[in-house]
Amino acid sequence: MKQAYLTIDDGPSVDRKAKVDVLNRHQIQAVWFCMGVDMEARPEDALYTIEAGHIVGNHSFSHPDFSEISLEQARDEIVSTDQMIEDLYQKAGVPRPVKLFRFPYGKEGAAKPFFNFDYTPEEFERVTEIQKVLKDLGYVTFPFEEIRYRYFQGLRDSGRVDWLWTYDAMEWCVFQEKPPFGVKCLDDVLEMMDLDLPERFMGLNYPDSEEIVVIHDHPQTSALFEPVVRGLLDKGVRFKRFT
Ligand SMILES: [Zn+2]
Repeated sequence: MKQAYLTIDDGPSVDRKAKVDVLNRHQIQAVWFCMGVDMEARPEDALYTIEAGHIVGNHSFSHPDFSEISLEQARDEIVSTDQMIEDLYQKAGVPRPVKLFRFPYGKEGAAKPFFNFDYTPEEFERVTEIQKVLKDLGYVTFPFEEIRYRYFQGLRDSGRVDWLWTYDAMEWCVFQEKPPFGVKCLDDVLEMMDLDLPERFMGLNYPDSEEIVVIHDHPQTSALFEPVVRGLLDKGVRFKRFT
């Protein structure tokens, strides 16, 4: 058995409610990292997510690459979406349990990928500034002592408060013009689960670490949502509650 936390990125899409219902049928609680622009378009779907017992997290307003926008824009992306989430919890009459943020593309403000420690002083300063915006608003991460990957522990120990992932289901690949990693259909997504590269985000077979799994709420892959969740369960993954 493999313990994991489930996170869902992007949206809410038009199929959000059905996906929330899938998780509730399987008694799985998730953090749904939502985009401000989609919550503005479909506030009822974000509200439904909260009312159904899940957590709505902040995934920025318009999903920019944070290395390509100004610090002022970065702040606006975070703060405006934070306020929308605050309003939704109030509307739902549910106390907001915790503030969680995930960067689009895992890009925390430098052009290098998020598991990179090799920043220039300028990059380091920028990344630190954006982390400060999050911390000042009360955003937190969990201790995750049972996630044992070295890259993950290194980032956590650096004091970052944004939410990384350790396993990407990669179902988003199937609708790209050139599917990355050759992932073109559900069977390919399920096959990726058997890969054994624990320090490279493919550690479902590695018994000594918990995981943070990410799946996406994209309308193009709504039909894959439940099969992917089932695939993870069949693989022996058991999802922990956040609250
Ligand atoms: Zn995203």
